[in-house]
Amino acid sequence: MTIQKNENEIIEFLTKRGLYTRIPIEYTFESDSIHFPKIDIFCQKCNKRSTFVLDEEQCFIDKMKVLFRAKRSGMRVFKPNHSGLVGLERELPQINPLNNNSILAIKMKCARNYDHLIFFIFLVIDGYLIKIGQHPSIEDIQSPIDSKTVKIITEKNYSELRRARGLFAHGIGIGSFVYLRRIIEDLITETTKIAIVENTISKEDIEGKRWYEQIKLLKGYLPDIMVDNPIVYSVLSKGIHELTENECLQYFPTIRELIELIFAEKVAMEEKEHRIKEISHKMSAINSKIKVSK
Ligand SMILES: [Zn+2]
Repeated sequence: MTIQKNENEIIEFLTKRGLYTRIPIEYTFESDSIHFPKIDIFCQKCNKRSTFVLDEEQCFIDKMKVLFRAKRSGMRVFKPNHSGLVGLERELPQINPLNNNSILAIKMKCARNYDHLIFFIFLVIDGYLIKIGQHPSIEDIQSPIDSKTVKIITEKNYSELRRARGLFAHGIGIGSFVYLRRIIEDLITETTKIAIVENTISKEDIEGKRWYEQIKLLKGYLPDIMVDNPIVYSVLSKGIHELTENECLQYFPTIRELIELIFAEKVAMEEKEHRIKEISHKMSAINSKIKVSK
């Protein structure tokens, strides 16, 4: 049994979409075993990314309801397994286990250790599968914020990034965009100050400029990936003012990944700068000893 033909869509739904988001059901019943694709998520117990596969024996589709109907119609109740439908389906072929208002619960296990589990609960309403429960949360199955990023990011931005991820995990899209936009604003403002001190740009260059243009002006100061994607600020603003909760939730993972890549590049830039300074210092030390002619 397949819930959704598009595997990528269901993988994204499981791994990146918060609670109360939905996907349309494209139900097909090619066999009595339920099918969910493997997912690649951060396993807190392995403390690294791992593949999780469906534990078919532990799936539940309104088992009570289906068994009750079977009993009432005088049929033999089969030992319930993954879906409670074995045998039943043969005798009641019209039963669609994903009736309106039915509940589907699944358990997936880490390929490295079957005791590492993730649970999802869905509700079926009007042809949609709505995610109503998940443990560990969306936030917990994302790779944690990189430790190098934690070192360079300000305390304020770190807490904003965590808050944005947490809101997203609870199905709050617009609110999570507010925090991401503040991070981008701070990054631009702080970088502008440095560029002004170094006389690369003047206050007048920046004044009255849109954020999009400011990002482009800071080429060489801001990470390249940010300069290459100057619309990031505009997308976040549009999310806050015009987009729906669902649209923000849909776009959040991409923007979050972009912001985390911006910080990763900033870390690399700072490391490179540090190494350049260090090597220049060592070269001067060598020169002061051996005094080469230029
Ligand atoms: Zn694991």
